[in-house]
Amino acid sequence: MTFRADLHTHTTRSDGTLSPTELVTRWAGAGVHALSITDHDSMEGMEEALEAAARFPELELIPGVELSVDTEHGEVHMLGFWMDWQDRGYRETLARFQESRVGRARTIAQRLTELGAPVTFERIREIAGEATIGRPHVAQALLEAGHVKDNQEAFDRFLAKGKPAYVERDKTTPEEAVRLIRDVGGVAVLAHPNDMGTIPDVEAFLAELVSYGLQGMEVDYGSYPQDLRARLRDQAARHHLVATGGSDYHGRSGYFEGVPGGSYITKTNLDRLRALARPELTRPRA
Ligand code: AMP
Ligand code: ZN
Ligand code: FE
Ligand code: FE
Repeated sequence: MTFRADLHTHTTRSDGTLSPTELVTRWAGAGVHALSITDHDSMEGMEEALEAAARFPELELIPGVELSVDTEHGEVHMLGFWMDWQDRGYRETLARFQESRVGRARTIAQRLTELGAPVTFERIREIAGEATIGRPHVAQALLEAGHVKDNQEAFDRFLAKGKPAYVERDKTTPEEAVRLIRDVGGVAVLAHPNDMGTIPDVEAFLAELVSYGLQGMEVDYGSYPQDLRARLRDQAARHHLVATGGSDYHGRSGYFEGVPGGSYITKTNLDRLRALARPELTRPRA
């Protein structure tokens, strides 16, 4: 029987389209053995997800997060698994990341208004709902106001880095991100390592992350072709990193992502990864 595990998915708590309950239900229905929900800078969906997962004893739900990390050469993403997500300091740190996103959405709305494509912060906030507020929500506000014809145009004309309504937000450093995850018992994994076109020396960057305590790297990533995965698998092995994987499912059409219920990490590697987390956090669910 194929071992099915997916360690990278998004829900309505960040920029995905399925609620945590819907996602868990759909992945369990697809026969998935292990699933991690990795919303951007937020673990607010975890309680609901664990509740939903309690109905599927065959499914291991792994608490997860995807942090945006700033480097001197651009943004990279760091995944964390099995953190003690109820830890107060940890929750407060994630809350600070969220607040910085809210302030940024406000600034973007002002910029767009100055640029002759007025949208209100209030409308962006409404569109985001309970989600981690982000540029996709701004894009949707631009779309419904008739300023752009689709999401891509919103990014190409206004929101992408280097475009006139691009606004930076507070991001954590690679070292801080690894420490944040590991300090609460989690396992730190570099996300979609081929999407680091701005990093000039990826080998040196990986070595640096390993020195901070990085433990894994995404290899079987939803949209990566087989030859790329093979190359990344070698690279992970060279740095003694556990090869992980996931769909990066958002449920948005036009967004590159793997299929629900796919198989992205071997059982052996999942076992290796789990063994790196603080033991009491990986016990069977309460
Ligand atoms: P944020 O979290 O606000 O920085 O927004 C990040 C999200 O915006 C990503 O997950 C993508 O969904 C989307 N995004 C970022 N850059 C682009 C781009 N150039 N074109 C289309 N979508 C993008
Ligand atoms: Zn996303
Ligand atoms: Fe990402
Ligand atoms: Fe993601």
